[in-house]
Amino acid sequence: MIEIKNVSKWYGTFQVLTDCTTSVQKGEVVVVCGPSGSGKSTLIKTVNALEPFQQGDILVDGVSIGDPKTNLPKLRSRVGMVFQHFELFPHLSVTENLTLAQIKVLGRSKDEARVRGLKMLERVGLTAHKDKFPGQLSGGQQQRVAIARALSMDPIVMLFDEPTSALDPEMVGEVLDVMVQLAHEGMTMMCVTHEMGFARKVSHRVVFMDQGKIIEDCKKEEFFGNPEARSTRAKDFLSKIL
Ligand code: ATP
Ligand code: MG
Repeated sequence: MIEIKNVSKWYGTFQVLTDCTTSVQKGEVVVVCGPSGSGKSTLIKTVNALEPFQQGDILVDGVSIGDPKTNLPKLRSRVGMVFQHFELFPHLSVTENLTLAQIKVLGRSKDEARVRGLKMLERVGLTAHKDKFPGQLSGGQQQRVAIARALSMDPIVMLFDEPTSALDPEMVGEVLDVMVQLAHEGMTMMCVTHEMGFARKVSHRVVFMDQGKIIEDCKKEEFFGNPEARSTRAKDFLSKIL
């Protein structure tokens, strides 16, 4: 579903990604972790072409991001993305947030978009809040709306960049529950997160980054079950967060 092939990226003279190669198969949940500044956000943003890269290529469902002929807005519309800071439009109601891109990008009718949006809102347990504005919701609820909004676009893959790290602790669980449910339903997911409970429970593979490089890419069982085989950097990281 996603093939990241030898991707390197520079900000000016600073190399932020070095020869990164990994993949996410259909139905697979891959967790990306690593120390602050290791390039996790940059890597995940290259996957929906929010960040350009200078070397290598990324294929999303067989379509090359690096190919200048690729219709990037079209490709991006099929890749759901949820960030740390729930980027809902503050001046639009929950329902309007859910329908806007469906209407503008996918060309759906208002009714069709509403039906789809409200179905996804139900999935994250927030039907009762459909007419509220983002400012009237808790952080956890806003993040669940952001997930519902991404799902409304019928994504072929969902990307998450630390979706729970800006939340108060008591709201982390409700967002993780939605992500766990998605994983169990077979959604293809690439998640930057430090929630190792989530990684243990639902991920298939763990990618560990350090200084712009992917230095571990292994099955979850291997990552958590065989610490002795891990790199010093990964062991060090795990010892701090577990
Ligand atoms: P965190 O865990 O703190 O979110 P991260 O692993 O997501 O970190 P990135 O945000 O991808 O790391 O940043 C990787 C490196 O690239 C950092 O050293 C950062 O300072 C640098 N960087 C990020 N964005 C830019 C930019 N727009 N211009 C220059 N350098 C940048
Ligand atoms: Mg980041």
